[in-house]
Amino acid sequence: MTEDKILYMVVPCYNEEEVLHETAKRLKEKYISLISRGLIDQQSRIVFVNDGSKDKTWQIIRELHEKEPNFFSGINLARNSGHQNAVLAGLMTVKDICDMAITMDADLQDDINAIDAMVEKYHEGNQVVYGVRSARRTDTFFKRFTAEGFYKFMKIMGADVVYNHADFRLMSRRVLQELSEYREVNLFLRGLVPLIGFQSCEIYYERAERFAGESKYPLKKMLSFAINGITSFSTKPLKLITAMGFIMSVISIIAMIWTVTVKFAGMSELGWSSTVCSIWFIGGLQLLALGIIGEYVGKIYAEVKQRPRYTIAEFINKGENERKINKLF
Ligand code: UDP
Ligand code: MG
Repeated sequence: MTEDKILYMVVPCYNEEEVLHETAKRLKEKYISLISRGLIDQQSRIVFVNDGSKDKTWQIIRELHEKEPNFFSGINLARNSGHQNAVLAGLMTVKDICDMAITMDADLQDDINAIDAMVEKYHEGNQVVYGVRSARRTDTFFKRFTAEGFYKFMKIMGADVVYNHADFRLMSRRVLQELSEYREVNLFLRGLVPLIGFQSCEIYYERAERFAGESKYPLKKMLSFAINGITSFSTKPLKLITAMGFIMSVISIIAMIWTVTVKFAGMSELGWSSTVCSIWFIGGLQLLALGIIGEYVGKIYAEVKQRPRYTIAEFINKGENERKINKLF
């Protein structure tokens, strides 16, 4: 077992006042048992990242920290920056004061009991431990269908992600340092972490139902998440456009030969429907192609501006590392 045992849990929270107390309670119990088993150090903390919530989330985080600063810390973002950025904000804040960090959703869908196995795997020398859902029994058919379709589509489109792995994972300090070198604004952590490399493994857990509150990922957000994932990690859609253009050119040559033949056969008044159909079809294809190219141009636009991905308004944390961190602000 390694000596480096400070574990920071990073938990992004957006309007999670209904679940926060329960999550905090369960995580604290887990920490107590991990500390008593000698798997993690006493300086380990649970960091809730408030992602610009409109409800009492931040107030609850403050109270938790004031009551039990040895367990709970908090990061308050200046505004809502989205799940991925909130996770990154947490990770980048703790990267120099922890030995390992686990990211987990606030809604208790990720199995807290899987944390033991993650930490054990870390002590066995793994730098990244992916939490993979073994079953989706609690998800509705629709969610399961769209989510599993998402992973398959991502793969076809050339963005390699770990199948059925969301953002429940352990990363070592070393990996966090490397992650900080990736400066992209269009953040898609699931695609990034496998790129970093190092020894990694998977552990399996059953995904539970949301404890309370409702999903902050409606279909529309999920779709844009998928498009973002694909266009951030692969240029395959651009290659598909080229292939489509090539196929269309071949078809048009065939059509041209056909047209000329028909004309010389003296049947040229025919052809109104074929003309109209091809105008609509080609028009549609061109718009689609332009849209895909536009998606990449938009990405480049966002990247060249290099705006900060999140802004931290406040970091409340108690520990031996307190002073070191406060210097940052
Ligand atoms: N979340 C966030 N910022 C957002 C949206 C969501 O920090 O803008 C957090 C949310 O509080 C939760 C996690 O991200 O802890 C995952 O969100 P959710 O459970 O709604 O997604 P689902 O599990 O339904 O895909
Ligand atoms: Mg959830």
